[in-house]
Amino acid sequence: MTIPAISVRGAVKRYGQLQALGGVDLRVEQGEFFGLLGPNGAGKTTLISALAGLGRLDEGAIEVMGHDVVTDYRQARRALGVVPQELVFDPFFTVREALRLQSGYFGLTRNDAWIDEILAHLDLTAKADANMRMLSGGMKRRVLVAQALVHRPPVIVLDEPTAGVDVELRQGLWGFIRKLNTDGHTIVLTTHYLEEAETLCHRIAMLKAGKVVALDTTANLLKRFATRTMRIRLAEPIGLDFLPGAIEEDSGWVEVPFERFGEVEDMLSRIRLSGGFIEEMELGAPDLEKVFVGVMQDA
Ligand code: ATP
Repeated sequence: MTIPAISVRGAVKRYGQLQALGGVDLRVEQGEFFGLLGPNGAGKTTLISALAGLGRLDEGAIEVMGHDVVTDYRQARRALGVVPQELVFDPFFTVREALRLQSGYFGLTRNDAWIDEILAHLDLTAKADANMRMLSGGMKRRVLVAQALVHRPPVIVLDEPTAGVDVELRQGLWGFIRKLNTDGHTIVLTTHYLEEAETLCHRIAMLKAGKVVALDTTANLLKRFATRTMRIRLAEPIGLDFLPGAIEEDSGWVEVPFERFGEVEDMLSRIRLSGGFIEEMELGAPDLEKVFVGVMQDA
């Protein structure tokens, strides 16, 4: 059996009375693009900190590429690149200096060719000699991504990498991360942009209050939890009690959930028979946001 990229077993973390992780089990295979989702305070960052060896678990164990993050810290750390959520830098270094310094932590002295390649991919070449304090927030975030990659780690964890990042960079960043994934790197992503997770991640774990409440492929999650919706706007309002689950929005649109397309035909004929005239209509596919809301309500 191949070694998992990340293995989390029975992870428990407490902050005083608060249990931030309540027994998390997760296994991320090598080469996966894995999403770790959850509302604010669910424990995502706590888990990532433990993974990076920055915070100790109270119980349980985590391995990165087969290396225990506590007993085999150096090897585990070498196998991992983390893009943290917080922007923390030494403002006096230039971008290139910061990346060289980071390379030095991993004993890499001649790393400039790779540093140049990362800078180019992240559209940072023009800023290579600028001081960190002179960069915009979005650029600083790109440098964080670059820092996580200097030692070419097989496993890359990104904690909300696109918070506060403009559309163009976001797309550029995802293009690059996707390429890294295609090249064989394992990617773990936390984000509050569910659309992003839906398009990028093959498999997703959802955390709530420190527990895994859903874990499956993105396709299965969409199939299992999300319903389709028909949205209609009628010329004149009529009573729609015969449509189960219909919700009338303030805008006058009515949203009706359904499971099979065959039901739409039936709903439309009932509306017509009740004297309703449809002016506009849309069909909505299941999306991860609906799945997320459903899972969180059930949990
Ligand atoms: P977000 O989406 O907001 O980043 P998260 O899922 O990353 O949230 P965590 O930052 O892991 O959540 O926080 C989990 C819980 O642990 C929260 O209730 C948080 O308040 C608490 N917590 C995190 N760090 C500490 C700390 N150093 N001391 C005390 N409580 C903490």
